[in-house]
Amino acid sequence: MLRSPDPLPTAGAGRFAPSPTGDLHIGNLRTAILAWLFARSTGRSFLLRVEDLDPERSRTEAGQLRDLTAVGLTWDAAPVRQSERTGVYLEAIARLDAQGLVYECFCTRSEIADAPRAPHAPPGAYPGTCRNLSGDERARRRRLRPAALRLRSGVEEFTVTDLLHGAYTGPVDDLVLLRNDGVPPYNLAVVIDDAAQGIDQVVRGGDLLSSAPRQAYLASLLGLPPVQYVHVPLVLNPRGRRLAKRDGAITLGALAGAGLGSEDVRNLILASLRLPEGPLEDALAAFSAAQLPREPWVFEALPATPGPGVSPAPG
Ligand code: GLU
Repeated sequence: MLRSPDPLPTAGAGRFAPSPTGDLHIGNLRTAILAWLFARSTGRSFLLRVEDLDPERSRTEAGQLRDLTAVGLTWDAAPVRQSERTGVYLEAIARLDAQGLVYECFCTRSEIADAPRAPHAPPGAYPGTCRNLSGDERARRRRLRPAALRLRSGVEEFTVTDLLHGAYTGPVDDLVLLRNDGVPPYNLAVVIDDAAQGIDQVVRGGDLLSSAPRQAYLASLLGLPPVQYVHVPLVLNPRGRRLAKRDGAITLGALAGAGLGSEDVRNLILASLRLPEGPLEDALAAFSAAQLPREPWVFEALPATPGPGVSPAPG
């Protein structure tokens, strides 16, 4: 792997792609720093994408970008916003449709949960209820509820290669390509946008490893180039669970309230990665993928202190 504190930009890019549905916590910031280290240490540029497809839940973009900057991250182009790219996703669905790979699905969530399925089917997999509806049946159901669009998948599983996990095989079902409210889903947008942004290295939390096979399969159907996957260890609370607000101070804002500035938080993250504290450039000079800790980092959150707005009135 090329390692240089000041790499020349080459073709290829890494990225961080947060969903702006809340403030980033220390686990998200650690993943972002890792994505930056992997990209920069391999001569790639580093890009941001705001995964704001869900309009009702996407409100924290500005705060997320501010926090990424506060821990020392820089990126090489204006962030891409998925909410501005619906036309591109629809065009990709049309290309799949032209290959006979799209069908309408009228199932509700509970119908999917209750449908009979093959004994070996992975939990949550779509049971194929609407795969072969007749034209008449589709016309009848369209009058009752709007259709979602699903991929007519040709495989039941797919294998990806991950830099840390090696070969990983996971299930692929008839995934949703367009929700019935017209919103394109994450699994479709992520593969289109990674390709459109020239991203060929996907560093993200280990919880998304199980999504990689269906995304890589979809990319292959769309004729998009494969990416290098690096699913990095998560940050857990002392009970072994993913960090959540109730654990205490885990966001930069809350940690500042508990007396830790953004540089302290950056240093804690770097120490957890066994990298030198200080500017990220110093960590970059010392970074090697082979020495990355493979186990989750257990973070004991500081008690959250109430903000000024919620402290009890004196007297
Ligand atoms: N937007 C996703 C999230 O915040 C990450 C997607 C990705 O990195 O592929 O969980």
